Amino acid sequence: MSAPLRVAIVGSGPAGFYAANDLLKRDPASRVELFDRLPTPGGLVRSGVSPDHAARREVIATYERLAMASHRFRFHGNIEIGRQLTHEDLLRCHHAVIYACGSAGDRRLGIPGEDLPGSHAATSFVSWYNGHPDFAAQSFDLSCERAIVIGNGNVALDVARMLLLGHDRLHPTDVADHALRAFAESRIREVVVLGRRGAAQCAFTTPELLELGHHDLDVRVEHAASAGAKPAGRDARAYAVQLKLRLLDEYAARAALPDARRLVLRFLNSPLAIVGRDRVETLRVVRNRLVSGGRGDLVAESTGEISEITAGLVLRAVGYRGLPVVGLPFDAARGIVPNVGGRIVGENRRPMRGAYVAGWLKRGPSGVIGTNKGCSQETVACLLQDFAGDRLPIPDIDDQGTQRLLTERCPDRVDYLGWKKIDRHERLGGMDQQRLRVKLVDLQRMTAVASGRF
Ligand code: NAP
Repeated sequence: MSAPLRVAIVGSGPAGFYAANDLLKRDPASRVELFDRLPTPGGLVRSGVSPDHAARREVIATYERLAMASHRFRFHGNIEIGRQLTHEDLLRCHHAVIYACGSAGDRRLGIPGEDLPGSHAATSFVSWYNGHPDFAAQSFDLSCERAIVIGNGNVALDVARMLLLGHDRLHPTDVADHALRAFAESRIREVVVLGRRGAAQCAFTTPELLELGHHDLDVRVEHAASAGAKPAGRDARAYAVQLKLRLLDEYAARAALPDARRLVLRFLNSPLAIVGRDRVETLRVVRNRLVSGGRGDLVAESTGEISEITAGLVLRAVGYRGLPVVGLPFDAARGIVPNVGGRIVGENRRPMRGAYVAGWLKRGPSGVIGTNKGCSQETVACLLQDFAGDRLPIPDIDDQGTQRLLTERCPDRVDYLGWKKIDRHERLGGMDQQRLRVKLVDLQRMTAVASGRF
């Protein structure tokens, strides 16, 4: 063991910050350096959480403040591991590296027409309206009257709500300027959210479903009644399903609001093909019934009853997907880095010395922000055990050498003070317009602001 413990964390989303705090707390001598590809910390808290759910960002803000306040912690933004620095570089400067880079890809449907203009991954749409620099130049045509969102998770409800909220509700938020302008001109009046299974199997959570009733939307429910019996039992899961079914019953019983924007929750329908000559015109769907999946679950089976829904925009919200990280093993089927409790394992399930993983890249894209806390703690516990047991490699570059290497390889890196300059710039920009903040979406402008050149 060569104290003090020095750890690099790659990815500054919730899993990265939870891991940093846990390390700083549990080993009072440890030093942590947090790297992010973007100049801004936060990961999906900045570019995934819905702009109208700003309060959810506070869950992680406390952890961000705690870490940033510690003299044993450093943030290095605008550095891509695998490009400017390699895994080996990080291990020459640290005893261990924790990868917490999330799931940056998206899952596909594998149906005809998926690449027609007007058909997109919901994850891209989310990144676009949240001002992620990689997606700022994309465009989404909102000139049609109906959009379809495929999938029954929280992302599906987020994008459906964003499409229908309207400019006045979105203006005070930190939605990206380009998206605010597009939403102001949007002609979308109806969003159909398509679930392949029934209401009792939906993946969205109760607060998200409840919230739909608070936005003067005309919420319609189709094919929920046949969605399977209400689960018996008193455990938390059965209770959550019962609550969601009760809410859906209430929405179904409401009088229609003919002048309001409409949100249709249509269950038991699978997409078959996205159809159109030059762009999306209709979605061909098939009605499903539920049958036993053989493992105590219910799966969708086609009834053969086919219909078409006219729409100009189709967003597939069928899940995120982890992407390989240069230098690490990858389980392509699950989209994760193979690991045991957070220790990255290679062939024969042998641990890679000094390499760990936390968050979605460890367990797949599931759970809410807080789920990452326990996940990161488990990883940190393994790392600390390995440090105590002398099972970590010894870095051969000291702290000064590390900073020299960073200056040499990453001249445009953005440190904590640089991020605070961006933060202040964005908040001040928002103040003039009675908005939470006006996000910077251009990397060059961000680095200029961070370095005080703007
Ligand atoms: P998700 O929760 O895994 O939901 C994916 C949905 O896509 C499921 O309904 C799934 O249906 C459906 N699906 C998958 N393949 C399909 C196909 N080929 N055809 C039709 N439907 C298909 O994924 P997500 O919505 O991307 O969310 C990811 C994670 O982030 C979740 O843990 C979520 O709770 C979290 N999140 C939370 C919030 C929040 O707290 N507000 C907001 C956004 C995201 P089956 O069930 O039938 O497979």
